[in-house]
Amino acid sequence: MFDYDTRLLKGDRNGINEAASLLSKGELVAIPTETVYGLAANALNPGAVRRIFEAKGRPQDNPLIVHISDIKDLKPLVTEIPDNARMLAQKYWPGPLTMIFHRSGLVPDEVSAGLSTVAIRMPSHPVALAIISKAGVPLAAPSANRSGSPSPTTAGHVLKDMAGRIPAIVDGGESPVGVESTVLDLTGDVPRLLRPGGITPEQIRAVTGELVIDSAVTGRMEEGTVPHSPGMKYRHYSPKAKVILVKGSREAFTAFVNSKKGEGVAAMCFDGEGQDLQVPFVTYGGRNDPAEQAHRVFDALRRIDEIDARVVYCACPEPDGIGLAVYNRLLRSAGFEVVELDE
Ligand code: AMP
Ligand code: MG
Repeated sequence: MFDYDTRLLKGDRNGINEAASLLSKGELVAIPTETVYGLAANALNPGAVRRIFEAKGRPQDNPLIVHISDIKDLKPLVTEIPDNARMLAQKYWPGPLTMIFHRSGLVPDEVSAGLSTVAIRMPSHPVALAIISKAGVPLAAPSANRSGSPSPTTAGHVLKDMAGRIPAIVDGGESPVGVESTVLDLTGDVPRLLRPGGITPEQIRAVTGELVIDSAVTGRMEEGTVPHSPGMKYRHYSPKAKVILVKGSREAFTAFVNSKKGEGVAAMCFDGEGQDLQVPFVTYGGRNDPAEQAHRVFDALRRIDEIDARVVYCACPEPDGIGLAVYNRLLRSAGFEVVELDE
């Protein structure tokens, strides 16, 4: 069933029209967004939504985010819009913030993986907005990678994972934010952060006052607990190489990694901090530049596989601001394996 001759479309008027036409026929199209590339389908077509799970190899119990291009498209999808959601949408939509609502009867079970809620976002990427608007329906779109591998931030990344599995990819250049959206649950008494992303906890608190950070953001799910966000329980974002996060100063990191040097050992470090390493390395932004780290972290994880590493020691980012999202993704790609170095 996966024998497409996958086409690369430009993010121009022709490409947008072509993408919208495929989506209206129930086909899948990978589209650029400001966070990462999304694998889009008509969210109101259960058959099209099921294809997303098949093309990605995504577990059936992991729900999808629905993307809209206009605030008026929110109301039909949900049973109520809490005040906090109204205020957050006003301030941060379009942008990298996903909000969870109680879903209306319009949202197919397939989108929400059987939950009574639905995740909704209005992206800010002009090509994404144009495609949603032209398609005339909300689009369900998870990240356009094969399940488990690092999220794609270029059309080339998508092609690598999805060639032959989908009819088209729209090339909109590099995703500027680079990590997926912040996921915020607004169905309870207090807003709950389920996944950190482009909108930081400080930015949310500035609007809502209160915010609970779900324990799955920085910790491992306990065996047998029911996660608030099903996606957080899976090993995720991983290259083929085994990733180990290493907390410590540049000097301690360099000495530690050099003590491990050998066949298949590599490092992922901050810009300008690789000179004294005795193993191959890739960099992912400055130590004090979390926005750049977010922009480059998934590409760096993909480049690790290109140098055929077996194990990669990755310098641990500070979990502040958007750095919390970078830390959260790297923790998962490392399967929660963290080494803390004594200074
Ligand atoms: P992705 O589409 O790859 O960005 O993943 C979507 C993320 O949003 C996953 O972590 C999902 O578990 C989460 N998500 C989607 N819908 C819901 C929902 N209704 N309730 C809680 N989390 C959700
Ligand atoms: Mg994903």
